[in-house]
Amino acid sequence: MTNMDALLSKKIIGEFKASLRGVLVLPGDDEYDRGRRVWNGMIDKHPAMIAYCGDAGDVIKSVAFARTHGLLTAVRGGGHNVAGNAVCDNGIVIDLSRMKGIEVDAKSRIARAQAGMTWGEFDSATQAAGLATTGGIVSRTGIAGLTLGGGIGWLMRKFGVTCDNLFSVELATADGRLVTVNGQENQDLFWGVRGGGGNFGIVTEFTYRLHEVGPVLAGTVYYPASKCREILQFYRDYIAAIPDGLTTMFAYMAAAGIPSLSRLLHGGPVVAIHVCYTGPAEAGKKALKPLLDFGPPLLNVVRSMPYIELQSMLDSGAPPHMHNYWKSAYLNNLSDAAIEVLDAFSKTMTSPLSQVHIQHLGGAVKRTGEDVMAFSHRSALCVLNIVTKWEGLRGSEQHMQWTRDLEAAMRPHSTGGVYVNFLGEEGEDRIKAAYGPAKYARLAALKSKYDPTNFFRLNQNIQPAAGKSLDQMEHGANT
Ligand SMILES: Cc1cc2nc3c(=O)[nH]c(=O)nc-3n(C[C@H](O)[C@H](O)[C@H](O)COP(=O)(O)OP(=O)(O)OC[C@H]3O[C@@H](n4cnc5c(N)ncnc54)[C@H](O)[C@@H]3O)c2cc1C
Repeated sequence: MTNMDALLSKKIIGEFKASLRGVLVLPGDDEYDRGRRVWNGMIDKHPAMIAYCGDAGDVIKSVAFARTHGLLTAVRGGGHNVAGNAVCDNGIVIDLSRMKGIEVDAKSRIARAQAGMTWGEFDSATQAAGLATTGGIVSRTGIAGLTLGGGIGWLMRKFGVTCDNLFSVELATADGRLVTVNGQENQDLFWGVRGGGGNFGIVTEFTYRLHEVGPVLAGTVYYPASKCREILQFYRDYIAAIPDGLTTMFAYMAAAGIPSLSRLLHGGPVVAIHVCYTGPAEAGKKALKPLLDFGPPLLNVVRSMPYIELQSMLDSGAPPHMHNYWKSAYLNNLSDAAIEVLDAFSKTMTSPLSQVHIQHLGGAVKRTGEDVMAFSHRSALCVLNIVTKWEGLRGSEQHMQWTRDLEAAMRPHSTGGVYVNFLGEEGEDRIKAAYGPAKYARLAALKSKYDPTNFFRLNQNIQPAAGKSLDQMEHGANT
């Protein structure tokens, strides 16, 4: 029996349950064990209840119920966050995953989507009209968490990060109001929700700008793992001169998920360069030529494909419920010394399921001003993400240590900044590093205005500022 069961009578829980359009799942219910799981298999929490909200009204009711009864509150969209803050022990999980309504206005190129959608669901609705906006690289990731932290993906160099394409959100505040947040209403909050994560309230609906996205020239070129250093050197030089329509990602990974290579390499590692070109096909072929001409690849699967096919291309490398431990950093360059470190660690990777990703930024990501919103570190060259994964508990400490060691060895080559959506439970200093001191202070002032009691604290938490008002912060510090 949890503490909350003891504190809350059956009658109170029953009344709350009856008030919802959605479903309240309690310990002992058939759905409970499935419902308490998230993507990262390392997370094993036992909430007192899971409120699967049916609409924004349910979200408001759940916030009010949690406040009245002093319940620790977690908020879940797609459940993909590696830190696992979307669930909690003993408290309430406010789950939006059943809120999947979407309206696509093809003429105005706008989509209004409820917060429970995944990118796969969102993309298939917008692509029906030949449109898309920047989303993540795996189709099962939730639009909510990804958008609120920034959102990097295949279309970012052409159209900006996801939150650059955000027009408006509907947000349930800690004091139980549903407010519209955009460039006209609650502007201060609009600055904060674009990168500041779930700190300010629960978003029930997002409105995005869409772009015309026809078939993309996309796929992967694979090379032998033994060429890791050479490929990284090539990659560094190649990305220095590519057009904005081309987004690329380097990966050191197992060949296990690629049947033809897996047989050849017995599931061993490969080096991959994933690409997506959006725009006229001829220009795309020209942009990709140096890559396709470089050395004999093991396999080249670059071709014209629908954007939604690309969006699920990497899904098999990110299965749910495996143990995941990530470390990430922004890099300003890929110096020979940095490449040496990456090459050396590729040879000592402890779990064959792990991957090391380098996602190249630049283009439209860099062109938006650093002060425009909370999302930060736009001028970095790329994001390094060490995606360590394994099955079961065996070897956990060894895998985590390899990850920490690689992150430490790459620290001298990092900008010192980190992308908030790739953070695990890494403490306040790393959260501050996601924004830099001045922007963190502005976020803290915003937090004290909209959530002074830190009701929404299961996230990459920004502590409410004591003292300085938001006004002072906005006029005293802009970066
Ligand atoms: C396999 C995989 C691939 C990924 N690929 C990318 C990528 O390509 N690009 C990228 O930028 N990121 C990527 N990420 C990181 C991803 O952006 C974050 O994990 C993000 O938090 C996931 O959103 P979610 O809704 O699925 O997460 P959840 O775990 O449901 O939520 C994460 C946090 O977001 C907040 N939150 C969720 N929903 C709401 C809401 N409606 N209102 C307010 N706060 C809310 C809560 O604080 C919650 O703890 C990837 C992650 C994984 C596991």
